[in-house]
Amino acid sequence: MTHPVLPGHPHLHYHDQALQLEGLRLADLAREFGTPLYVYSQAAMLDALGAYQRGFAGRKVQICYAMKANSSLAVLQLFARHGCGFDIVSAGELQRVIAAGGDPAKVIFSGVGKTRAEMRQALEVGIGCFNVESEAELEVLSEVAQSMGLRAPISIRVNPNVDAKTHPYISTGLKGNKFGIAHERTVATYQRAAALPGLRVVGIDCHIGSQITEESPYLDAMDRMLDLVQAIEAAGIAVHHIDFGGGLGIDYNGDTPPRADALWAKLLAKLDARGYGDRQLMIEPGRSLVGNAGVCLTEVLYLKPGEQKNFCIVDAAMNDLPRPAMYQAYHAIVPLQATAPTAVSHVYDVVGPICESGDWIGRDRNLAVAAGDMLAVLSAGAYCSSMGSTYNTRPRPAEVLVDGARAHLIRTRESVNDIFRSEKLVPQGNP
Ligand SMILES: *Cc1c(COP(=O)(O)O)cnc(C)c1O
Repeated sequence: MTHPVLPGHPHLHYHDQALQLEGLRLADLAREFGTPLYVYSQAAMLDALGAYQRGFAGRKVQICYAMKANSSLAVLQLFARHGCGFDIVSAGELQRVIAAGGDPAKVIFSGVGKTRAEMRQALEVGIGCFNVESEAELEVLSEVAQSMGLRAPISIRVNPNVDAKTHPYISTGLKGNKFGIAHERTVATYQRAAALPGLRVVGIDCHIGSQITEESPYLDAMDRMLDLVQAIEAAGIAVHHIDFGGGLGIDYNGDTPPRADALWAKLLAKLDARGYGDRQLMIEPGRSLVGNAGVCLTEVLYLKPGEQKNFCIVDAAMNDLPRPAMYQAYHAIVPLQATAPTAVSHVYDVVGPICESGDWIGRDRNLAVAAGDMLAVLSAGAYCSSMGSTYNTRPRPAEVLVDGARAHLIRTRESVNDIFRSEKLVPQGNP
């Protein structure tokens, strides 16, 4: 019998009690590659991309995958092959795009703290657009481009001041956070940009937050963006493209974000109604393309019953799955071998081995488990591997990309030597 685990994970299901991703048993992958292990479904990533592509059929749009969500080279390669550009936030990410075979002309460079060296590197490879986040950055970018005899293509990230109704750490479109240029300063900033010799104004952009599960913040932001485009163009500056950022949420725990195609049907209707329907569009989705395509497999090391809490100690930790510690985020946790309905379960806090009370992966979870059992932490495709660290000198997990019945090892497990390769002891001379 086959049944899906969560509506948000269409390629994850139990088959004869064993959890499978596409055509492969996850327990087999855990045995072959060890744990903790990230496993991604290629079909799930392409389905998620397909929802955007369907939504934009017949329109001028460039989808720029926000690669900080998951920047593993094979993931970038997959999206590049399917026509995506990339939204980057560092020169390191730019190097990853190039290593994965992506086209720098389809790259947009976001972030509030680009260095001169990063600007230079991006200009050298012919980057598509800089999303500039402050007036000071405009001046510096103009200088750098001019010194290279170039004009940097720019859009200005504006802050539409809408409440994305998400966690404060991932809400970015309100006054009082560090991103973008205030709504009221927009026209003046565009006038300054148009006057600078090293810049070429090509667009406007915004990004209002992340894990957004309602459509109203997007519709409000679109109205505000179009008001700004109108005002900028009334001042005589052409805005060739509108970049609407990313932020669409996924189903972590019964969340019901709009589907990309349904959301964009409404946004495109708004663009049409206001006469901007044939404008070049860009979007920067991250989480919604990869989040529910991935799981993290982990082994139960110990059960530790307590007076107030029972702990289920596993071999994955906050360095592999940082979202619970950072945002109190929820990841569903399910066994790789389905348990009988009659099995005795207990309520556990699922925690890792790291020496921090913040090192938890799930709280108050009802599980029928024993030491040695394998669990899957769901929705681990976005902001897990890419945010991971080696804290406690824990090597980074391996990563596997599943395509039907084939498993591709796309990252080998890091070794402890890899971790301290760049470190040096202090030479001990004679006293
Ligand atoms: C992080 C980020 C994104 C992607 O956000 P998601 O919520 O993962 O879709 C897009 N644009 C910018 C500028 C970002 O910083």
